[in-house]
Amino acid sequence: MSELRARADHADFIAGLPKAELHVHHVGSARPETVAALAARHPDAGVPTELDALREFFTFTDFGHFIEVYLAVVDLLRTPEDIRLLTYEVIEGLAAQRVRYAELTMTPYTSVIRGIPIEAYTEAIEDARMAAERDHGVAVRWIYDIPGESGVPAADATIRYAVDHAPDALVAFGLGGPEIGVPRAQFAPHFQRARAAGLHSVPHAGESTGPETIWSAIRDLGAERIGHGIRAIDDPALVAHLAERRIPLEISPTSNLATRVVKNIEDHPIKALRDAGVVVTVNSDDPPMFGTTLGREYALAAELLDLDETGLRDLVAAAVDASFAPHDVKTRLRADIAGYVPA
Ligand SMILES: [Zn+2]
Repeated sequence: MSELRARADHADFIAGLPKAELHVHHVGSARPETVAALAARHPDAGVPTELDALREFFTFTDFGHFIEVYLAVVDLLRTPEDIRLLTYEVIEGLAAQRVRYAELTMTPYTSVIRGIPIEAYTEAIEDARMAAERDHGVAVRWIYDIPGESGVPAADATIRYAVDHAPDALVAFGLGGPEIGVPRAQFAPHFQRARAAGLHSVPHAGESTGPETIWSAIRDLGAERIGHGIRAIDDPALVAHLAERRIPLEISPTSNLATRVVKNIEDHPIKALRDAGVVVTVNSDDPPMFGTTLGREYALAAELLDLDETGLRDLVAAAVDASFAPHDVKTRLRADIAGYVPA
């Protein structure tokens, strides 16, 4: 069998494999089709409504362009109904890729400061979740994250939303945005409150900065999983700690290339981390904006980790184990993965 043929077979195998997604951002998952619908609702925003023009707008050029697309989508979310539509269609898109369980990272702060009350935001996302779960048989939970670039005021607001207005499906508290110039430790009181309220701790760390940020995420924020965390590879003591404590990393190879924290795919540290005993999971981060899908990330991981079909099953199973899914959802998903035979 030629190598090309083997890869094509992997793509089919992955497409049908029941999957779990642990690190994917709500606004960053907006598909061009959804943005077209939102742009038609709000023509004054100046965002194209034709799909071809939007697909071009979504074609990744560099990190500045990513921010531009991201903010254009944020600015189109003006009413609770816009939030509902985006949320429903993101979950629908996940279900279409055979994602059976997802933890979706939400940044309510950016919508509340644009005028959507948190009560309406919460109602919109829960309404979308329940409809999408019913229509597509997928289970979804929320992570509320602090947009790090907006500092302590954003953290103060986000913890209030998470504790005083918690949606039913909220399971974890996160920290996103840039790492450079945004020390993790300043958010220790917020994560302490979140954990006291029964939420899990899942900050981003060690994406664009070094191992010290991951240490801080663990020591100051009580991180149970690390968003990205790939720079752990620069500190053997940290690698050993992650492996021993079984703190999983949420890894997104294409995102790492797009943001240039990894220069070439063959330099990606996922294999070295896995070989050192660290639990790695594969995720898509901001998939349409980085021109990827969860399936494509699994195909890349299969190459980087040299996985056959059994290895791919084990990789998905690791994501289920690392998830905060309810026990019955985990049990069902593990059985579906173990019993998966491609059509
Ligand atoms: Zn992320």
